[in-house]
Amino acid sequence: AKKKGKNQFSFYTTKLEQQRTRASKIEQLLRTALENEEISVYYQPIVDAVSKRIIGLEALARWHHPEIGDIPANEFIAVAEENGLIVSLGKHILITALQDLKHLHEIGFDHLYVSVNLSLRQLRHHDFTALISQLLQKNKLQANYLELEITENIALCDEQHVIDSIQELKDIGVRIAIDDFGIGYSSIGYLRTISVDTLKIDKSFIFDVTTNPNTAHLTSALITFAHNLNLQVVAEGVERAEQLYFLEQHHCDKIQGYLFSPPVSFEQLVSLLHNSPSR
Ligand code: C2E
Ligand code: CA
Ligand code: CA
Ligand code: CA
Repeated sequence: AKKKGKNQFSFYTTKLEQQRTRASKIEQLLRTALENEEISVYYQPIVDAVSKRIIGLEALARWHHPEIGDIPANEFIAVAEENGLIVSLGKHILITALQDLKHLHEIGFDHLYVSVNLSLRQLRHHDFTALISQLLQKNKLQANYLELEITENIALCDEQHVIDSIQELKDIGVRIAIDDFGIGYSSIGYLRTISVDTLKIDKSFIFDVTTNPNTAHLTSALITFAHNLNLQVVAEGVERAEQLYFLEQHHCDKIQGYLFSPPVSFEQLVSLLHNSPSR
């Protein structure tokens, strides 16, 4: 029965089995992806809500495999977090992002900062803060041009080494952002222990902020909450003009989303910067 061809295969395997097969395939390919230079870094502009100037960039990992093509970040990051490859993968992203930022500063875009996603495993690693200071030094970049995005599950981590590492990064001058704010846990107590600079409101809020009054009230409350704590607010996933209008009305500081630009390659970013009225 299994000889009936490719399409019939799915008929005999469960969805779960297929997912497992794909995950182990990805795991296997990921081990050589770094050496084969299949992983690159894309950048999504972060725009000032008032001036609409590009002020920052979020670095996002991209994986193009010669045979299976593009693999979504969510998918391979989850695998890398599970098997620990995220430590070397994350290091590669950091090295690339800071090198690229240095290059952008050199060609005149010296107001830009870069925001890099972190995973808990990287912060657990004992050399992490040393790596960051070394990379900043090597590229002669001031620490405040680097922002590190951590999710609420990292912020909630009670391991002393992780808490100390975040504080150390803050002491060097690196900025910390809470990513996907509002969807993780209902606890915000971590804001007492770790000091952060930025809250990134999760895109699921922005998605229905103009159609769901509850979301609208919540989003507006989150912005006020952040401002009372002296934090900057970034709205992610902004796709439509009405969403931008709402965020402007409620004094959100920064905007990120397809409305301005999707994540783009470094080359595309450079031409985008040259063609935008940001200078
Ligand atoms: P994230 O950190 O929340 O990143 C934002 C995601 O939203 C990105 O997906 C981005 O392409 C997408 N996005 C941007 N604007 C819009 C929009 O207007 N509408 C919608 N619907 N989506 C938008 P991406 O690049 O596929 O990344 C997915 C996730 O993978 C990231 O979510 C992050 O959690 C993880 N990730 C990506 N790169 C890295 C990395 O270098 N390190 C770590 N640890 N995680 C990463
Ligand atoms: Ca992020
Ligand atoms: Ca996010
Ligand atoms: Ca996310």
